[in-house]
Amino acid sequence: MVNEKFYALGTNRLYIRELAEYGMARAAQIGRENVFDFSIGNPSVPAPAAVNEAIVDIVSMLPAAAVHSYTPAGGGADARRAVAADLNERFDCGARPENLFFTCGAAPAVATALAALGVAEGECVIVAPFFPEYTVYAEAAGMKSVIVPPVTSDFQLHASAVEPWLTPRTQAVLINSPNNPSGVVYSAERIRALGELLERKGKEYGHPIYLVADEPYRELVYDGLSVPFVPLLVRNSIVCYSYSKSLSLPGERLGYLYIPDAMEDSESVYAAVAGAARAAGHVCAPSLMQHMIARCASVRPDLEVYDRNRRLLYEALCSYGYECVPPQGAFYLLIRSPRGSAREFSDRAKARDVLIVPCDDFGCPGYLRLGTCVSTDTVKRALPIFRELIEEK
Ligand code: PLP
Repeated sequence: MVNEKFYALGTNRLYIRELAEYGMARAAQIGRENVFDFSIGNPSVPAPAAVNEAIVDIVSMLPAAAVHSYTPAGGGADARRAVAADLNERFDCGARPENLFFTCGAAPAVATALAALGVAEGECVIVAPFFPEYTVYAEAAGMKSVIVPPVTSDFQLHASAVEPWLTPRTQAVLINSPNNPSGVVYSAERIRALGELLERKGKEYGHPIYLVADEPYRELVYDGLSVPFVPLLVRNSIVCYSYSKSLSLPGERLGYLYIPDAMEDSESVYAAVAGAARAAGHVCAPSLMQHMIARCASVRPDLEVYDRNRRLLYEALCSYGYECVPPQGAFYLLIRSPRGSAREFSDRAKARDVLIVPCDDFGCPGYLRLGTCVSTDTVKRALPIFRELIEEK
């Protein structure tokens, strides 16, 4: 006998995983270069040289026991100090090392934040489009997932679209910007307006509604845009961050939660985060990566390839007649299915070895996501196929 809920989770896989696995099997058959795999969000640029150099240096210079030993559950002092200093330098936000809790990436950061906030009968409002695993984390936290449909006119954050979904049971509102899959960056005005709404509703309901901001793509923005730092705009906010995308380290598993002093019940929220992580069997985030970030907290990604791919795809696909959401950040381009459902269009593309993700699981039916985290050669060689796909009857 096994846990039925977990059995269902372990067997009902997301379509995106199936597509990525199909891509690998197909590459083994016809050659990697002949599969145009835009499906998965794996960074295609290597980790910055400074990161690799720091890792080599740490492994060769520090005593092994220091490199590989357990750290405190929330993270080692040097890593926390370095990240707090970097946040303060960039956002002047008064971060202290004690506000940070290191995790194995953004996924456990979000899951832990929701677990910490999950009370009986609680609800987690999730703004679409959204990373599909959010509903899994909310439900594991004992909360009901309440989905705010996307505003497809601009894919921005609209407080007026969120308001009807708030109830006295709302514990948290979960947003992601730069957004996966739309590539849209939520503006400071929009985030502030949502914060004002949550503050007002929190007073009405007699308890705070926390804004959980999932920001693994914070550093991936283009055209000189900057990503607003949510805690400067919304008092009761928790930031979930990851180095998976910004430093191209998705397999190394490092991220953190930032729980600002200014938020209501900050100390209790931090303690509940520590408890939720403990209950999930968290011991500490990878020690080697913590040593690395203690040295590399201010290292930023090289965005040249993502930016080039983004422009190439956006301009070409628009010129062929695709309806595309202008991508401002992350490494995705969202397009509307030109014909039939998103799954039907994805299947037609797949028949030509172009793998693109239907976004039904992201709360965004009728749209498909293309990862721009591929080689520019892949983009260039796939363009004629995209043209044929929209032109064929
Ligand atoms: N949140 C979003 C919006 C993502 O796109 C991803 C990964 O693609 C994650 C969280 C998980 O990131 P991590 O690898 O840091 O756990």
